[in-house]
Amino acid sequence: MDLAFMEEERTFRDEVRQLLRDNIPLETRRKLVEGRQLSKAEIAVGMRVLHKRGVPGWPKEYGGAGWSPIQQYIFEEEVQAFPAQMTFGFGASLVGPVIYTFGSEIQKNRFLPRIVNAEDWWCQGFSEPGAGSDLASIKTRAVQDGDHYVVNGQKTWTTGAQHADWIFCLVRTNTSVKKQEGISFLLIDMNTPGLVIRPVKLIDGSYEVNEVFFTDVRVPVVNLVGEENKGWTYAKFLLGNERFGDAGVGPTKERIQRAKDLAAQCYVGGSWLIDQTAFREKVAAIEVELKAIEITQLRAVFNASRRQDGSQDPAGSVLKLKGSEIEQAAALLLMDVIGPYSLREYSEQPTDSADQRLVRPDGARLAAPIYFFSRAATIYSGSSEIQKNIIARAILGL
Ligand SMILES: Cc1cc2nc3c(=O)[nH]c(=O)nc-3n(C[C@H](O)[C@H](O)[C@H](O)COP(=O)(O)OP(=O)(O)OC[C@H]3O[C@@H](n4cnc5c(N)ncnc54)[C@H](O)[C@@H]3O)c2cc1C
Repeated sequence: MDLAFMEEERTFRDEVRQLLRDNIPLETRRKLVEGRQLSKAEIAVGMRVLHKRGVPGWPKEYGGAGWSPIQQYIFEEEVQAFPAQMTFGFGASLVGPVIYTFGSEIQKNRFLPRIVNAEDWWCQGFSEPGAGSDLASIKTRAVQDGDHYVVNGQKTWTTGAQHADWIFCLVRTNTSVKKQEGISFLLIDMNTPGLVIRPVKLIDGSYEVNEVFFTDVRVPVVNLVGEENKGWTYAKFLLGNERFGDAGVGPTKERIQRAKDLAAQCYVGGSWLIDQTAFREKVAAIEVELKAIEITQLRAVFNASRRQDGSQDPAGSVLKLKGSEIEQAAALLLMDVIGPYSLREYSEQPTDSADQRLVRPDGARLAAPIYFFSRAATIYSGSSEIQKNIIARAILGL
């Protein structure tokens, strides 16, 4: 089933396509197609293009695009399809909305324009050893000393901390109340003395996550967001936004298409893989699931456009749960198709060899890293089990 947009939505889509074609550097696009990493400078340039008409999802007064949820959806879809998907840390997507919703005027003036212009890279300091799913158990302590908080403790799994200028942290400011009621939300300059980053190497070979240690780190009290001990409310708001953006339909579509293109180049067991029934059944099963999640996402977008109270849709958990599972299925499909071609006996370029089947299809080497990284999709932004708990409570009323 093809879903049709209204005339003005189609016009908007054409404008977005034009914006990307005219402004995203060719080299950036090529690297994204090939699954190669962009430099921080390339990402900043790309982010400025994506923010040219304002930050999607933000209100106009803070430098946002002021778009409807449907326009945002179309924008995201085009960005993923181009592809021009990039994130300059977690500024625009996560901490920005917290600052303009709960922050002080000083914080709004200081931080929001720098996020819009991709000048500050932010990272997320929520998880700790012993506090992931059970986030309210965080132990990193902030004790007020005059006009500063003194922070001691450790964060873990901090994505992009090595590039970040700022980290937004959940810290414990009261130990004698219920754990959710003693948490505050602090903005911390990564260059503050006493803050140390240690890299964590992932199984796909990438260096993306870190441990972050705080020893007597002094943070001005003006960097407290909202009220002291109300950080859990702001964290829940932030996590709801994070899950809503996590269905990953665009990248999964691209991955399935790539698996199909590659299957057309793979000759196995006497026929082209793309023509084999077992392979076609596998692809169809994933595509049906993907279409279902796409429709669910559109339904959530439509509901969001009618939602006036700013409350969050628990459908975000359904999108995260199913989206991450389908992402993994697509990564496995890609691995099934070209995994064997990553072996050394396959050459990158066509040779004079009589057996052309020994030529490595484009991108074969990337299949394993993509597969390994996809294993994390059902863990980060709240694991699948946690999403099921939320769905049971908020949707099924159990
Ligand atoms: C690649 C990657 C990047 C990340 N980036 C960041 C980041 O930038 N910033 C940040 O703060 N965090 C980040 N995280 C951390 C992520 O949010 C946590 O890993 C996640 O919340 C799970 O927490 P945990 O690792 O402590 O596992 P645990 O909470 O210890 O869970 C272990 C297992 O037990 C299950 N489980 C736990 N509680 C329940 C329950 N109540 N009911 C049923 N099952 C349960 C979980 O589903 C899981 O399978 C990242 C993680 C990864 C893998």
